[in-house]
Amino acid sequence: MKLYNTASRKLEEFKPQNPNEVKIYTCGPTVYSYAHIGNMTSYVYWDLLVRTLQLNGWKVKRIMNLTDVGHLTSDADDGEDKMEKGARREGLTVWDIAKKYSDAFLDNFHALNLLEPAKICPATKYIEQDMKLVDLLDEKGYLYDTKDGLYFDTSKFKGYADFAHLDLEHLQAGKRVEFSSEKRNASDFAVWKWIQEGEDHAMRWKYRGRDGYPGWHLECSVIAHEELGETLDIHTGGIDHIMVHHSNEIAQSEAAFGKKFSNYWVHCNFITSDGQKISKSLGNGYTFADLAEKGYTPMDFKMWILQGHYQSERNFTFQDLFAAHQRLMNYRNFAALRWQEKGEDLLELREEILNELNNNLNSAGAFAKLDEVVSKSVPSEDFVKFLDEVFGLGLLESTPDISDENKEKIADRVKAKEMKDYALADKIRDELARDGIEVLDGKDKTYWRFK
Ligand code: AMP
Ligand code: ZN
Repeated sequence: MKLYNTASRKLEEFKPQNPNEVKIYTCGPTVYSYAHIGNMTSYVYWDLLVRTLQLNGWKVKRIMNLTDVGHLTSDADDGEDKMEKGARREGLTVWDIAKKYSDAFLDNFHALNLLEPAKICPATKYIEQDMKLVDLLDEKGYLYDTKDGLYFDTSKFKGYADFAHLDLEHLQAGKRVEFSSEKRNASDFAVWKWIQEGEDHAMRWKYRGRDGYPGWHLECSVIAHEELGETLDIHTGGIDHIMVHHSNEIAQSEAAFGKKFSNYWVHCNFITSDGQKISKSLGNGYTFADLAEKGYTPMDFKMWILQGHYQSERNFTFQDLFAAHQRLMNYRNFAALRWQEKGEDLLELREEILNELNNNLNSAGAFAKLDEVVSKSVPSEDFVKFLDEVFGLGLLESTPDISDENKEKIADRVKAKEMKDYALADKIRDELARDGIEVLDGKDKTYWRFK
């Protein structure tokens, strides 16, 4: 299996450390508002990654965090804490905000039929371990204290610039008038923030006798280490994470534990919406509720995501969502054929689909192979099961078996048509329609589907 590794900027053959288990860490969402389609995009790609690894016979242990504290509205350690901002906006406590939007995120996650990670870890459950990591980094001489918080001195971590190919001199020269004049290097970042006198910050913990909270990047280093050990096989995230968040995770983890943090880094690109960057002011950050209003399901959206590539920037439009919906309906109708005729196992096609996915998750290629067969073959139940394992589109459950009585009716209708008793044929068709079954008269066959 080949994957594009951001660390080397190359397509590489994937090899896990332990042939029996692949350890993956996924940067999860900040749970301070409803997710829009852009926010949900990456999880669909990572689901495909996990499914592809499993198809290759590997067991996967995946951990994902939920950021419920410490993610500031800016990557530069200033601005507001997103959770506190959400609480103020809605007149709720930060804890209520965390609960409300974690639940909403997980609802979306499940609606997309994504495989559950081994564990989903809220950052606030790891505060003690955060403090231990800060202590360890401090003992090793990587930190310095400022009025604003404890900062990581990136000049002490050799190779800090390597991962994101940063031009540190340029960064330093362009260093804007800093909110924290005590920051030594432009790329230094807070591992622990101190709460200032009179500052309104509800989530706070006592550390070294003072109130504070963890810096955003810390949780991923801590949770990954706690749940998966020293070196990950794969770390995933959005391309926006590369420059700051992931450079900082690497610095913290490798400085503290002295081991390579992750062997592979896989990043997905952004989607635009209606031709523009997703933004509140444009109102193009559609939620699943917005899609539902226009008659689309999360599965339609998943189909749209999967027909593109995780490294491409893609543009979402409702027109394209309609096309994806049609494509999904096509697959459902294909899957429904398994009840109507003797199906084929299509072993060669399975091989071809796997080959496409093993080529850096080329799902578009995999669907192209499938499309070649959909119009001219009938699948066996086992092949539909295979498709569901690969893509998680829920074809088996969205095309359930029908009752024996209705099967008989379909057969009776075929007979009625043969006898040219069109009145009876229409009567049966209407009866079936009342059970949500649509009968389709093909060239020389009758098919049915659920509406
Ligand atoms: P935000 O809450 O806006 O910071 O977004 C959280 C994460 O969602 C980001 O770090 C990105 O990785 C991801 N994300 C946000 N917008 C998009 C987008 N338009 N396309 C893909 N991913 C996105
Ligand atoms: Zn992270």
